[in-house]
Amino acid sequence: MSQHTQKTYTLNTNAKIPAIGLGTWQSKPNEVREAVKTALLKGYRHIDTALAYGNEAEVGAGIRDSGVPREQIWITTKLDNTWHHCVEKGIEASLKNLGVDYVDLYLVHWPCSLNPLDDSKLLPDWNFIKTWQEMQKLPATGKARNIGVSNFGIKNLEILLNDPSTKIVPAVNQIEVHPGNPSPGLVAYNTSKGIHTTSYCCLGSTNSPLYKNSTLIQIAERKGKTPQQVMLVWGIQKGRSVIPKSVSKSRIEANYDIDGWNLTADEVNQLDNLKDQFKVCDDSWLPVRVFFDDDEYPDNRSQL
Ligand code: NAP
Repeated sequence: MSQHTQKTYTLNTNAKIPAIGLGTWQSKPNEVREAVKTALLKGYRHIDTALAYGNEAEVGAGIRDSGVPREQIWITTKLDNTWHHCVEKGIEASLKNLGVDYVDLYLVHWPCSLNPLDDSKLLPDWNFIKTWQEMQKLPATGKARNIGVSNFGIKNLEILLNDPSTKIVPAVNQIEVHPGNPSPGLVAYNTSKGIHTTSYCCLGSTNSPLYKNSTLIQIAERKGKTPQQVMLVWGIQKGRSVIPKSVSKSRIEANYDIDGWNLTADEVNQLDNLKDQFKVCDDSWLPVRVFFDDDEYPDNRSQL
């Protein structure tokens, strides 16, 4: 029997990240505290947040409300773009918000260093290589047990990994992956470098177009599962951690009721190859491009 919820992936640091966690982007402060508590009481042991979500304090309160011991919970948070030049201050702010001594994983949220005085502009004389130099100091402080990146494509990962100052390979690259954006090239690249992939927008995000996808619906009906459960099991079977967001008790619980069954190789293949492709998070709001076609699609496919 497949116990997807009990599964962990061993990172390049030997730490074990739980396969399923609760996402919290767009979870409002007045709803996320209860959502986190509900999730932890259901059995989730992994919570994903970020300074930029503005809800770390409530996430921390939800963790304490649950009564689940801190050491049993994997907490991921992220360095905001306007904090790249002060990584230590950034993590200190997140630890204070969360009310914890350490996080399990600290990610560079985007490969883009923004000017705190005007976040429509790049930070002068800075880049993500300098940010990573500062990030690498964190594991020794005990404030972040593992460090990683998010929204890094192949081009930026190559720049990072080839820089002589890079001594620590990111443990995780958190990127957008769902059946509408399976991103096989980038996922394979991560794996080839020993970098674990966490899938964000793993259900296709708010108002997901995937809920109307006939291939997904047919698979879900055949299995007697919801489309969301099918997408989560698809991600976990493919070796990625998944972090579905919900603030609804019944959905948080349903998203965790995924044990005891698997998708067949044919079903996985169908989900790998949906016709309708889309991306939720683009880079148009940033002053530089961070996504390039080769990160997201294999060479034999064109972006719609
Ligand atoms: P998601 O988890 O793919 O989808 C969340 C949406 O699906 C919400 O509207 C939620 O609504 C709904 N939903 C959840 N479970 C459902 C169910 N069983 N049935 C029907 N609807 C359901 O989207 P996401 O929040 O964009 O991504 C997940 C997490 O990834 C985020 O929360 C965040 O932690 C992380 N993330 C990271 C980045 C990054 O840059 N690193 C970017 C985006 C996201 P309700 O809440 O109303 O249930």
